[in-house]
Amino acid sequence: MNREEKLRKNFQEVQDSLSAACQRAGRNVQNVTLLAVTKYAQDEDVLCLLRQGLLKHIGESRVQQAQKRWTNPEFASFPVIKHLIGHLQHNKAAKAAQFFDFIDSLDDLSTAVLLDKHVPAGKILRVLVQVKLTTRETQTGLPLPQARELVKQVRGLKNLKVCGYMAIAPQGAPESELRALFTPLKQAFDEDFPTGQERYLSLGMSEDFVVAVEEGSTLPRIGSKLFA
Ligand SMILES: *Cc1c(COP(=O)(O)O)cnc(C)c1O
Repeated sequence: MNREEKLRKNFQEVQDSLSAACQRAGRNVQNVTLLAVTKYAQDEDVLCLLRQGLLKHIGESRVQQAQKRWTNPEFASFPVIKHLIGHLQHNKAAKAAQFFDFIDSLDDLSTAVLLDKHVPAGKILRVLVQVKLTTRETQTGLPLPQARELVKQVRGLKNLKVCGYMAIAPQGAPESELRALFTPLKQAFDEDFPTGQERYLSLGMSEDFVVAVEEGSTLPRIGSKLFA
């Protein structure tokens, strides 16, 4: 199998797992958007999937690295929706507001205010609020009650549109624990984002996206499974 065949096979396997998870949960697979995490991927691998029209939403974790790659003319010719999934520092907020379509890792009001100030005229920057699921990890994100409060505050900022929640599950957690962590977040999501086209609950990575989708994730973030 050459590299292109391997990448197509990875992609198909992820798609099949997503479809099967949706079927088990009685969900429509159309309501699940694959966020391809390209942060560790080789340029050639990313270009290979782009040329086949398989990447619509991509996730990068570093502002500078993302900008360098996606402003390269070869990459820039593909109309992908770009998400920042890594933590955002204040000193990168201006660049991030210009470059990204989505900031999925928002976890404080001061960063939101800075982003709002730097969004270019005519653009609406989409954001997700990052929720911290456990206390036992040194994770970024806010505990759920504070995250919900931040959603209300961000709704007052005119250049941002808050579209949902993102969370990272603890690595290696058993399925029962994952479900117990995802359930209250899904409930809050349904209450806080009851309707609309652009509502995203971004749960699940390569190791746990099947459970996350069964529990209602609409934007699983998948890197290593796609680019293995
Ligand atoms: C790297 C990363 C991912 C993708 O992880 P994989 O295990 O490679 O699928 C998803 N979400 C976030 C926030 C990440 O930093």
